[in-house]
Amino acid sequence: MMAGYLLARAGVSVVVLEKHADFNRDFRGDTIHPSTLELMYELGLLDEFLKQPHQEVRELRAVVNGQMVPVADFTKLPTRCKFIAFMPQWDFLNFLSGHAKKFPSFQLYMQTEVVDLLMENDRVVGVRAKTPRGELNVHADLVIGADGRHSIVQKRAGFERREFGAPIDALWMRISKKQDDPEQSFGFFRHGKLLVLLDRGDYWQCGFVIPKGGFNEIKARGLPEFQNDIVNFAGFLRDRVAELNDWSKIKLLRVQINRLRDWCREGLLCIGDSAHAMSPAGGVGINLAIQDAVATANLLAQKLRIGPVSVEDLREVQARREWPTRLIQGLQVFIHRRVVTGRTSGRKNSLPFVLRLVKWFPILRQLPARFIGLGPRPEHFRSPSSI
Ligand SMILES: Cc1cc2nc3c(=O)[nH]c(=O)nc-3n(C[C@H](O)[C@H](O)[C@H](O)COP(=O)(O)OP(=O)(O)OC[C@H]3O[C@@H](n4cnc5c(N)ncnc54)[C@H](O)[C@@H]3O)c2cc1C
Repeated sequence: MMAGYLLARAGVSVVVLEKHADFNRDFRGDTIHPSTLELMYELGLLDEFLKQPHQEVRELRAVVNGQMVPVADFTKLPTRCKFIAFMPQWDFLNFLSGHAKKFPSFQLYMQTEVVDLLMENDRVVGVRAKTPRGELNVHADLVIGADGRHSIVQKRAGFERREFGAPIDALWMRISKKQDDPEQSFGFFRHGKLLVLLDRGDYWQCGFVIPKGGFNEIKARGLPEFQNDIVNFAGFLRDRVAELNDWSKIKLLRVQINRLRDWCREGLLCIGDSAHAMSPAGGVGINLAIQDAVATANLLAQKLRIGPVSVEDLREVQARREWPTRLIQGLQVFIHRRVVTGRTSGRKNSLPFVLRLVKWFPILRQLPARFIGLGPRPEHFRSPSSI
């Protein structure tokens, strides 16, 4: 959507295809990072954006093995907004698509599911899609695969994908929220498990991180034991954890980290999770996907206004975005091994060494803030006239 918005803003004719009828998906994460907020400022949308319901988090805190650790301090970031805005991603996407629709060259087709690529002489020239009204062929100078971690575009293009393995999975569920509940917290960690609570107004969106493949064992122990696990992390949920009275209310999300060797071929470019699936660790996948979109528009908009782009042009996008992606994925693998699975210490209630350092030296909290809030090589919007 961000790539579509930016390209349409630059005068490129864009069609965004979305397979669902709306954006109300639970499994996206809710974090709008300072770098994305900076981008909204650069686009002149920030004031209106901040009028949407959201929470502003200036410091991320975690409860690790029972101890509260301030993990990231955003207040010193060199950005206009020194906070993460928590906003359900469907609100963000509705906001962005609402503005994109103001550009005459932008179209959004909902309930339009890409099922294949259209090829001509080994060049991608469009996509075939399924709609409630039948099949649709959309021809384009460039197809951007931004269809997430189960990308059909990536599969049909035959790209080679490298898997990095993730020792965790996530259980995703809702528990109602009460007025006197504590303020939003980053998460509660304990010995290979992590509970994250996202404030969605009248309910908590709960992400319960478990060791990979551990869901069957959790199910075998029974629902009351699982409810008990939740209460052990967040005692204030004791009076309503029984809302989780059926396993159908608890969805298993398999976490993966992978990256394509080539993100592009003639007529096609993959960005976001389609090019590099991200783990929820650090809550940075949305930011990275948006940064890819900005780099894509900055590098290609001018050329796309005239016609097709070459594969060399597309490789420039990969060249620009690949090292930030490698760095962040490397850090996610590190977080999985050292923090989430808690292999750093034999003592039951001790903090991993890295977190002890962050707790003792407040200045160190600025590093995770930069990593989460900005990411390496934050992209800035360049208007078509300055491209
Ligand atoms: C459990 C979990 C929690 C996470 N939490 C966070 C978080 O808090 N913060 C964070 O920054 N990151 C988080 N992430 C990572 C983040 O969700 C991704 O990195 C990010 O959403 C990638 O954005 P994207 O636009 O590339 O893909 P997506 O957000 O997956 O969007 C892909 C879009 O394409 C559509 N689509 C898919 N297939 C087709 C098709 N064939 N035709 C048409 N449309 C299609 C989908 O409906 C969707 O709208 C989390 C990941 C997981 C697994």
